[in-house]
Amino acid sequence: MQTVPEYFGSLVFDDRVMKASLSQETYESLKETIDEDKELDLSVANEVAEAMRTWAVSHGATHFTHWFQPMTGITAEKHDSFISPATDGGVIMEFSGKELVKGEPDASSFPSGGIRATFEARGYTAWDPTSYAFIKGKTLCIPTAFCAYGGQALDKKTPLLRSMSALSKQAIRVLKLFGHKDVRRVIAQVGPEQEYFLVDRDMYFQRPDLVFTGRTLFGAPAPKGQEMDDHYFGVIKPRVQEFMEDLNDELWKLGILAKTEHNEVAPSQHELAPIYTTCNRATDHNQLTMEIMQKVARRHGLVCLLHEKPFDGVNGSGKHNNWSISTDTGVNLLSPGKAPGDNVQFLLFLCAVIKAVDDYQDLLRISVATAGNDHRLGANEAPPAVVSMYLGEDLTAVLEAIEKDEEYKGAERAIMELGADVLPKFRRDATDRNRTSPFAFTGNKFEFRMVGSSDSIACANIMLNAAVASSLEAFADELEGAEDFDTALQTLIKRTLKDHKRILFNGDGYNDAWLEEAAKRGLMNYRTTPDCVPHMLDPKNKEMLIHQGVYTEEELESRCEITLENYDKTVLIEARTMVDMARKSILPAVTAYETALAETAAAKKGLGIELASKYEKDLVRKLSDQADLIAAGADKLEEIIKPLEGVEDVVQVGYTIRDDVLPAMAELREAADTAERCTAVDYWPFPNYGELLFGVD
Ligand code: ADP
Ligand code: MG
Repeated sequence: MQTVPEYFGSLVFDDRVMKASLSQETYESLKETIDEDKELDLSVANEVAEAMRTWAVSHGATHFTHWFQPMTGITAEKHDSFISPATDGGVIMEFSGKELVKGEPDASSFPSGGIRATFEARGYTAWDPTSYAFIKGKTLCIPTAFCAYGGQALDKKTPLLRSMSALSKQAIRVLKLFGHKDVRRVIAQVGPEQEYFLVDRDMYFQRPDLVFTGRTLFGAPAPKGQEMDDHYFGVIKPRVQEFMEDLNDELWKLGILAKTEHNEVAPSQHELAPIYTTCNRATDHNQLTMEIMQKVARRHGLVCLLHEKPFDGVNGSGKHNNWSISTDTGVNLLSPGKAPGDNVQFLLFLCAVIKAVDDYQDLLRISVATAGNDHRLGANEAPPAVVSMYLGEDLTAVLEAIEKDEEYKGAERAIMELGADVLPKFRRDATDRNRTSPFAFTGNKFEFRMVGSSDSIACANIMLNAAVASSLEAFADELEGAEDFDTALQTLIKRTLKDHKRILFNGDGYNDAWLEEAAKRGLMNYRTTPDCVPHMLDPKNKEMLIHQGVYTEEELESRCEITLENYDKTVLIEARTMVDMARKSILPAVTAYETALAETAAAKKGLGIELASKYEKDLVRKLSDQADLIAAGADKLEEIIKPLEGVEDVVQVGYTIRDDVLPAMAELREAADTAERCTAVDYWPFPNYGELLFGVD
């Protein structure tokens, strides 16, 4: 059997394979493209294509695809085989540099938010050499960007790469001022922790809500939920363990650094965290991870739910986007060192992030806005919809001292004494953690915790990179023009802290008092997707994103449209699913049970003895009332959604969904869940919460 180091990355056309299979000249030229954003020439592409094809075919591949990330949030692929007719009637396997560099998928069926009318169906995919090609099944997958005929980005990778360049460019300007002239690139590094649920596959298929929408739209709570805190980090069940082992194997072969896995807070909820890598690869890897999780789950008779809120009343799933910036010389610019108070360069980069998060709170909120995530943010299990930043006591004290011109006496790091001699002694971390903050400093990186579990992490990182690039640009402009660098630096840091300290909050973000305080501080609080997304087009946001070269105006307008359209469609599918389930399954089940009860009462009467049959009669009355409520609720919901079908104004539909559709869905659910609570299990048409959440052995 092969060991992990032997098979790790075996399905990836990575640096090792490139080095071994390309000429020295081509290898170096390709490395320059990958490491330094240098343009690639076609002769290099031809040799790379040849090497890729030979390698892929030797690993059993028959096809290739440009693998891209359209605005659907998932990945897309169109497979072409390598075959080409040979003169003798057979075939040869071919793959040219042109095919590697550029593809032309028909783009007409991908969301474009109005950028590309369907008659202009041509779309292009362009090879992204900074993310390695890999083999999935029998197909060589080439990570690519995706754009329209007019050059407008139709995907998430293009703006992500642009935001990484913008960040690098501005960070390099700042580093030059500190004398670091050798830095050629600054790279955003990301490690996304992925939460998910596993449910039994047979049960899944008995629930139209899970099948159509990824979450349960009905369901009374089980007698037990997560209140015992006995699932978090609990012993992993054998079937789940087998799934995780299988998953790790697949991910490792694809060069994905799957590292940490554990049970999460809710029953049946788990987490997987990889070791961080460049923002771009981390995004590709996370998309692949989600796809492979679902595929591997199937093999184990399970279904992996990536929805942000599959179950009411227990925690939903998010994705913690751990983010830092480092130089190509290997320095983490967010590492405070031993004495952060004396590390001015660190303080300046920290200030850049503080300013970025404060100035563009709305863009960060927008970057995680989906119908699914709206159920999670602010529901006391995930950060509120208000963006704030946690720095911890130590760093906050450093900043306060600077702002007030006082001397900072570093907090002594206490030795942990556990009271038993056999246990090792260690120094306590300078600060505790804060799990409630949307944006927390965790030692040498920030953890952006608002991202939804099913979301691509691209959007969050695009906004984060762009906003920080914008702060750094302002800083560089100011400092480059300064007569005395040190004085200008001090002034800048002090002023930034004074202007942006309102975004800093170390307390409990789940507390309602914080929301009041946040309002007093003037922080934004956009509760729902339709509340926040239109602000993508606010002048300050548009100006910044266009100026940083991350989006064009047209692209921004289209993103806004697509995000809202997606929200509208998602909730409308949910509403239709509810009406369907209520009428076709729940009402018939309730009536059948009523009939059984009524028949029992009638049969008892037939015995000719004086029996009250109070239980049966009361329950029939209750169920009958409940059935009326369910039927009325379904009618009402249908009435509300009917006029929305085909309405083009996505903002208006969004508001109606927020104000009318979601409340009507909640009403219908309440009626059905009450009925479920008093209907015999055998009559209920779907597996219940207890079975779903505790049914995996
Ligand atoms: P937690 O304790 O918050 O669950 P971990 O310490 O396990 O988190 O790390 C979470 C993620 O942060 C991992 O994916 C890890 O690779 C990533 N990470 C660690 N250091 C950095 C860094 N400097 N930049 C970006 N991500 C990082
Ligand atoms: Mg974490």
